[in-house]
Amino acid sequence: ELYNQIQDLKGNIRVYCRVRPFLPGQNNGKSTVEFTGGKGSIVIANPMKPGKEHRKSFMFNKVFGPSASQEEVFLDTQPLIRSILDGYNVCIFAYGQTGSGKTYTMSGPNNPSPSDWGVNFRALHDLFKISQQRKDLIKYEVAVQMMEIYNEQVRDLLCSDSVNRKLEIRNNSQQNGLNVPDASLLPVCSIQDVMELMNLGSKNRAVGSTAMNERSSRSHSVLTIHVRGVELASRDVLRGCLHLVDLAGSERVDKSEVIGERLREAQHINKSLSALGDVIAALAQKSPHIPYRNSKLTQLLQDSLGGQAKTLMFVHVSPDEDSYGETISTLKFAERAA
Ligand code: ADP
Ligand code: MG
Repeated sequence: ELYNQIQDLKGNIRVYCRVRPFLPGQNNGKSTVEFTGGKGSIVIANPMKPGKEHRKSFMFNKVFGPSASQEEVFLDTQPLIRSILDGYNVCIFAYGQTGSGKTYTMSGPNNPSPSDWGVNFRALHDLFKISQQRKDLIKYEVAVQMMEIYNEQVRDLLCSDSVNRKLEIRNNSQQNGLNVPDASLLPVCSIQDVMELMNLGSKNRAVGSTAMNERSSRSHSVLTIHVRGVELASRDVLRGCLHLVDLAGSERVDKSEVIGERLREAQHINKSLSALGDVIAALAQKSPHIPYRNSKLTQLLQDSLGGQAKTLMFVHVSPDEDSYGETISTLKFAERAA
């Protein structure tokens, strides 16, 4: 309740920045991140120009430094999850260059133990827990869809023979709340159910690509949790949904170096990330025209971006000096939304 009041004051878009720690083997690296402050500021130093005047600072709703735990990162997200059970739509994005920690934030490392769980398992855990607490008042049903957007085509990741089937996005199928009515929608009752489906989705995602990592850096993955609640006394029905989006890597590809398929992929990624940036910036500025139609991603998420819906973007930064250029462009992208 209080959270919703605060949200109303601050608008429905929040941007959190997370700095990944150096990885084992990178230990002696020097960080471009000179300062992070809990109040939401981050200062980046230019490794080529040591002078103070070349430092750049950025402000977000929150900045998590390299030692922030998965639990800490989730803490501020928790109220959003509760609001889904009250009938709100929520989108949570992970943005950043490949290797900056997007998948770590959303899912955790491979085969995570509960303390390493990312936002998605923690969110589901809360959804199941709260719906259990409310069971004498509201009967909830939870179902998931898992899709991939690759080269501006939507694919169902929960259906093994979907490689060649392109799914349509419909924005006016309001009665059941599904934007991609033909994608598999599978009921889940526990975290275990969801984990099994996510494993299936990852397997299906790898089909048709040589290396899983390669593919995951060039496509957007969208895990959508649909919640339907029936109030037992009134029989009123409420619906909320949560989109958890692990975006394609935001790194710019040198056009002189890639040709053919790689160039096409890069152009599609570019187009959809800038369309997302435009939509979020338009929402943040309360513009009367929101350009949803410019990419499959923004079309797919249309009814969960803007209006009463709540949006959270995690932007990820790699600390190493080689990433300086990408770090600055990532933070500039995110600043437009904040
Ligand atoms: P992305 O999805 O953006 O390409 P990953 O999430 O796969 O990046 O992260 C790259 C590597 O860094 C992985 O090995 C991951 O486990 C590790 N990593 C990322 N963020 C963190 C973190 N906050 N703490 C520990 N390791 C991390
Ligand atoms: Mg990833």
